[in-house]
Amino acid sequence: MKAVILGGGIAGVLTAYFLREAGFDVVGFGGELTYPLASLVLTQSMPFGEDVELARRSLEIYRRFVEPREVVSVDILPRWVDLSRLATPHEVADKLEGLRLSPDEVAVITRDYLIPVRRVVARLRKELGFTDSYGLLKVEDGRAFVVADGRRVGGDVVVLAAGYRNSILAREAGLALPLEPYECYGVLYIVGRRLWRYSIGDHVLGWYGRPATPPLYIAGDGCGRLGQGPPPNYVRRITALMRQRGAPVLPLYLKTGYCEVGPHGGPLYGRHPAVENLYVIGGFNGYGSMVGPALAERLAELVGGRGSGDVFRLERHLDSRPFNPCEVAERHDWGAVLLRNA
Ligand SMILES: Cc1cc2nc3c(=O)[nH]c(=O)nc-3n(C[C@H](O)[C@H](O)[C@H](O)COP(=O)(O)OP(=O)(O)OC[C@H]3O[C@@H](n4cnc5c(N)ncnc54)[C@H](O)[C@@H]3O)c2cc1C
Repeated sequence: MKAVILGGGIAGVLTAYFLREAGFDVVGFGGELTYPLASLVLTQSMPFGEDVELARRSLEIYRRFVEPREVVSVDILPRWVDLSRLATPHEVADKLEGLRLSPDEVAVITRDYLIPVRRVVARLRKELGFTDSYGLLKVEDGRAFVVADGRRVGGDVVVLAAGYRNSILAREAGLALPLEPYECYGVLYIVGRRLWRYSIGDHVLGWYGRPATPPLYIAGDGCGRLGQGPPPNYVRRITALMRQRGAPVLPLYLKTGYCEVGPHGGPLYGRHPAVENLYVIGGFNGYGSMVGPALAERLAELVGGRGSGDVFRLERHLDSRPFNPCEVAERHDWGAVLLRNA
């Protein structure tokens, strides 16, 4: 059996990895490696148990390839928040060295992991024989194939895993997908030693931050329609929010990233009902390195005929109406989910 994978990010290479474990010959098309950062954050501090379960499983999968580095995870939340849903062992603090909290805020302390995603993806691309070529998705007589480097490449299974380009490639092939691309922004900072120890989700002021190579730190937030570019004064705004927390920070560089999201604020995986051999995995928005590997494993199980009916299954979202990607509450984001439910 042969599987053709279109997209060589965390979702594509891990799906290829699990399909190869299941006995498939895999052919992968990767495009460029899009991870600008040395490491991405994996947190288990998320509002929904299903996501926490995926993050736990993803961490186990990463440990086959690398040893993730632990950092202190800080979620700043309003004091009124009910934390009984947080399935992860945690402490709640009123004060934190190096960060200013107001009396009506608490810091929820857990442990995050820095995953050298770029290294994992590059290694798997090589081991699985991915090429850097871009491909096009095509559908003929109800079956999918890929055209890359002027060749037609067909398989028993075709997996669309092209990140924010999933819905664009599907549309070009005449298919609809309940996924929307969007832009997100991150700023590289030099920060003081105390802040550098923390991976922060500030759900009150609205920014996130995580350590990179010392003394560098990445922080940001926000969402824009594709092609829109960062809002005016973006760097000044994020810098002001960090300084409001008492953190000495110096901005260096603003980067635009590209993501996509499903109508439920999270990722999707499953078989496309209109095409016999086409499977899709995507919509990971800001937490693809947290849940991507575990969802790739589930997709490979589904291809092998052993699927579960979880909330991330594509089939459950096909009837969704068009949505604005910047208006859905991202599932992994405490602040967004709490605000929606408040
Ligand atoms: C600034 C920033 C910071 C982030 N921080 C974190 C974090 O700390 N933790 C976390 O979990 N997530 C984080 N994310 C989100 C995370 O990067 C994404 O969720 C994740 O990359 C999605 O994985 P993916 O494999 O679906 O897509 P991608 O990583 O986008 O991979 C898709 C791949 O497909 C390729 N491709 C596209 N079109 C084609 C084509 N036609 N043919 C062949 N190949 C193609 C692309 O070149 C790319 O290599 C961050 C994102 C950004 C932008």
